[in-house]
Amino acid sequence: MYNVKSMYADDFIDDSEILCSLEYAQNHKDDRALIESILEKAAQCRGLTHREASVLLACEDDELNEKMYALAKKLKQRIYGNRIVFFAPLYLSNYCINSCTYCPYHVKNKHIFRKKLTQDEVRAEVIALQDMGHKRLALEAGEDPVNNPLEYILECIDTIYSVKHKNGAIRRVNVNIAATTVENYKRLKNSGIGTYILFQETYNKKNYEELHPAGPKSDYCYHTEAMDRAQQGGIDDVGLGVLFGLSTYAYELCGLLMHAEHLEAVFGVGPHTISVPRLCPADDIDVDEFSNALPDKIWQKIVAIIRLAVPYTGMIVSTRESEANRRAALELGISQISGASSTSVGGYVTPEDAEHNTAQFDRSDTRTLDEVADWLIQMGYIPSFCTACYREGRTGDRFMPLAKSGAIQNCCQPNAIMTLKEYLVDYASPETQEHGNALIEKELLNIPNAKVRKITIENLKKIEDGMRDFRF
Ligand code: SF4
Ligand code: SF4
Repeated sequence: MYNVKSMYADDFIDDSEILCSLEYAQNHKDDRALIESILEKAAQCRGLTHREASVLLACEDDELNEKMYALAKKLKQRIYGNRIVFFAPLYLSNYCINSCTYCPYHVKNKHIFRKKLTQDEVRAEVIALQDMGHKRLALEAGEDPVNNPLEYILECIDTIYSVKHKNGAIRRVNVNIAATTVENYKRLKNSGIGTYILFQETYNKKNYEELHPAGPKSDYCYHTEAMDRAQQGGIDDVGLGVLFGLSTYAYELCGLLMHAEHLEAVFGVGPHTISVPRLCPADDIDVDEFSNALPDKIWQKIVAIIRLAVPYTGMIVSTRESEANRRAALELGISQISGASSTSVGGYVTPEDAEHNTAQFDRSDTRTLDEVADWLIQMGYIPSFCTACYREGRTGDRFMPLAKSGAIQNCCQPNAIMTLKEYLVDYASPETQEHGNALIEKELLNIPNAKVRKITIENLKKIEDGMRDFRF
């Protein structure tokens, strides 16, 4: 029985509620008045229910769909301005005892090379990432209590924060590891992580159980209730995501939004981020075997609808997507992207070779960070390396009111400018420096508060003089 506040996955992601919502959406997809009223509600940044979002997804009217995209662009601009935050994944280990049929790290894949970074190798990877300019990481590791126990992850986090190479520093470590206990989430929180990210993969329980035939991850409810345990363990920034292509996209979008509603209803804090990965080719994985693969246009529409439905959430896209798709998604709602990612264990130091290939998926966007930064600048975006919020204690219910009211912009804009300046001085090519400095001059005028603008200008000078790590 559907109950948004229940602590049981089968209740807050109730299958019959999803099916009823999808049926309602099909029955109302031509209801112009209803769709316009949903768009009006979204325009006020009030968010949308899973049912309202499902109606938008079902809508086939070109004019209304164009209106939807235009509104998503407007909200994106209103909430996030033109800032795009950078992050990079860091793969620690591809040992895994799970059997996810869509992932090359599944336990039955006997020909993939298995690797786990030593602490020296972690240090080397972090130096390589710092030398590119990265400040924010997302840690990735398979689930394996023998090879990658929580103690190993915690040790890696300590190592990462301890590395200070030249002017480099990793200032925020987000973690994407398997569902675990409240006790372990407490330990993760105490290690200083930013966001805890866990992709649901699919909200369709039947599909989930088929796709995860063995291993601890095969327990759908334990996996789906992980974010509740993370919150109970004190992690108040959690990141949701599904792997689009595993089940029908309409079902997934509805489930994803029900999960966001559940977190909001129970903890008063919705998802800090939502990721929108899609199935893509990898070792031992043929995407053609999955019949729900979704086309670019639908994927972009989903990005736009999530932006309307959960306007305050950060939205993340990885290098799974091509440059062209990332460009479209940036306009429609994405606020964070990865750049120059390696999806291999140790791949920032040692480039992949066929024999030792540990990549989790093939990247579509293989440009360098400098190329991606310059690309953003040339499109008028501010590449931001900001990590200020959690370091200033702005997490969970302290962060959400600022995000919802838009007040966070008073911090994001100057922080984006100052962290971009650091990047330009320390890592950028001469061309990117020239474009970036011109952008900074322009963007300083968009800091509304005169006092904040003055401090930012003073800090820019200090950054040129060698000082680092200013933040609001
Ligand atoms: Fe292991 Fe995660 Fe891959 Fe599943 S998706 S096989 S849990 S690494
Ligand atoms: Fe993100 Fe906070 Fe920085 Fe804004 S100020 S970019 S919300 S970390």
